[in-house]
Amino acid sequence: MSNTPIITPDYKESTESYRQLIASTGEDLDRPGLLDTPVRAAKAFAHLTQGYHQSIEEVVNDAVFPSANRELVLVQNIEFYSLCEHHMLPFHGVAHIGYLPDGQVLGLSKFARIVDMFARRLQIQENLSEQIAHTIMDVTGCRGVAVVMDASHMCMMMRGVSKQHSTTRSTAMLGEYQHDNQARNEFLGAVPKRQPAF
Ligand SMILES: [Zn+2]
Repeated sequence: MSNTPIITPDYKESTESYRQLIASTGEDLDRPGLLDTPVRAAKAFAHLTQGYHQSIEEVVNDAVFPSANRELVLVQNIEFYSLCEHHMLPFHGVAHIGYLPDGQVLGLSKFARIVDMFARRLQIQENLSEQIAHTIMDVTGCRGVAVVMDASHMCMMMRGVSKQHSTTRSTAMLGEYQHDNQARNEFLGAVPKRQPAF
């Protein structure tokens, strides 16, 4: 069990960075509406990236239990919020996680905690799905893990091509899901249909 402490973020440095960023727009940092904005933004950013200061051991907290169930367990519609590593703009959506246990199961709330831990870092959706899948495989020693994520990306909606209704689906398949078409189809058939833009 790791006792890694949660590192207190250095708001001083990031507050100064936000001051410079806001000033670069030509804004008056002394006007009342903006007085506390740099420190508020620094704290918000620390919250959105707190996954860097968490460990799998803390998040899972020994919540792996013996079970004879070997059939599909599907945890669906886990909402998540992340920041794209290319623009640091939000992307958000839902994750659906299926796995085939092999002697032990993971506490249900831990799936959401694992999603949050990796989502609260600078990410691309494709890697986020992979990291979640590998972690569940490692923690449970299961026969297979499948992850599907549907998300809307602000860097697609607010800038660049400005597409408001496009969503992105990423998948990650490990273990038996890599070669067992029946298992894949069972999972993909059970996963909720792709959502329109969130
Ligand atoms: Zn982006």
